[in-house]
Amino acid sequence: MKWRIWLLSFGITILSVLLFGIVSTQIYYNSSIDDSKEFLSVYMNAFDDSFTLDEAGAKAFSEKLNGARVTIMDAQGNVLGDSEAEGDLENHGEREEIKDAIFHGEGFAVRSSSTLGKNMVYYCKNFESFLVRIAVPTDSSWTIFVSTLPSFLQFAGIMVVLCVLVAFLSTHFILSPVKSIAKEASAGGEVKSKYSELTPIAEILNERNRNIARQMDEIKTEKELVERAQSSKDEFISNVTHEMNTPLTSIRGYAELLGAGGMTDEQKDVAYSTILTQSERLSSLIACIINYSKLDSDDLPAYEVDFSSLAREMIFALKPEADKRNITIIEHIDDNVMIMSRHERLTEIFGNLVRNAIKYNKDGGSITITLNYRGLKVEDTGIGIAEENMSKVFSRFFTVDKSHGGKNGGFGLGLAVAKKICQKSGWKIGVTSALGVGSTFTVEF
Ligand code: ADP
Repeated sequence: MKWRIWLLSFGITILSVLLFGIVSTQIYYNSSIDDSKEFLSVYMNAFDDSFTLDEAGAKAFSEKLNGARVTIMDAQGNVLGDSEAEGDLENHGEREEIKDAIFHGEGFAVRSSSTLGKNMVYYCKNFESFLVRIAVPTDSSWTIFVSTLPSFLQFAGIMVVLCVLVAFLSTHFILSPVKSIAKEASAGGEVKSKYSELTPIAEILNERNRNIARQMDEIKTEKELVERAQSSKDEFISNVTHEMNTPLTSIRGYAELLGAGGMTDEQKDVAYSTILTQSERLSSLIACIINYSKLDSDDLPAYEVDFSSLAREMIFALKPEADKRNITIIEHIDDNVMIMSRHERLTEIFGNLVRNAIKYNKDGGSITITLNYRGLKVEDTGIGIAEENMSKVFSRFFTVDKSHGGKNGGFGLGLAVAKKICQKSGWKIGVTSALGVGSTFTVEF
């Protein structure tokens, strides 16, 4: 870049100096011709009767004019006498200055004299019966150019040195703010320039830096998500293995006892029934896991579901379970609550919330179900959830009662399924609870 600027300025300087030389030579040449014409016409005033119209007269007049060439001709341009060319000279009637003098009284011309071989300025005056022409040699523009060449070259040399100096300083002044901007940009900081010409560049660099920072943040977030997903996958596998281990150990233990023989009929009955119960538990765990995993890839289109009818049907189906424990179900269900979803999704959410409200209720308690276009609310008068567990109930495999074979026997996947469906549908699921008083689960559509 520097070299290009230097070479360009060097080229421009040489070209301008050359052009300057040619133009000034031409101007000087033209003005010297004009001067010659002027003093030739002044010279002519010195011609009078004392000069004879022949070669002697021409020479005498030439002497008076310090050696200027003088030609005396008759009115048609036939030479009568010439101060420099001797002998019979041809008729000059066709020469430009003489033609002009014959027709217009006077004439000027500049050319190389064919008689003397020099560049001459001619002035011819018509004295009616004869013509007088005075000529002085003059330099050609080329001669002027050659004679001024040494000073011209000196000038060119000075100009080149100046140009290199100016180019060096200007490239330094132009490039140093650009360099400092590049340095600031590569350091990643906010780029600023006190030169308004560089402000757009600084803005572009700042915008680019901001984009890079944004992309870096996105990459970081994505990386964190991937790491979180990986650790959540590991945790899921470990939970699944743990959940499966309990029934499998039990099945295996009883099967070994049966194989060893020597059990009473009563003990055998206990073994058979335990094996059966634990296998059913295992199957139901597998079904729950499959159901939960399927949610991730569930991209089936939503359609309008009459949630009011669906809720009433489900309450009807779950009522026997509640009746067994004397639990009353109070319904505040608005008609025609139409929700964009799918039957199976709403069944999962509603079923899990109401089943839990029965499962974790006290005998003789009650459940109040409210459904309208704003959302769903399931309130129970059950055991409640301790403050420290409130945020965990939606996590996979979380159960307050750790002995899963215990009275309620859940795997801790029901609320996780409900939460996942809500997240995918853009709904908000939440819980409020007081230990020993009851819990309220809400879904805001
Ligand atoms: P589970 O299959 O164990 O019921 P859930 O995911 O449905 O799994 O519930 C997770 C845990 O949250 C339950 O084990 C229970 O301890 C608690 N829980 C859920 N619903 C209620 C409720 N209505 N009242 C009290 N505790 C509840």
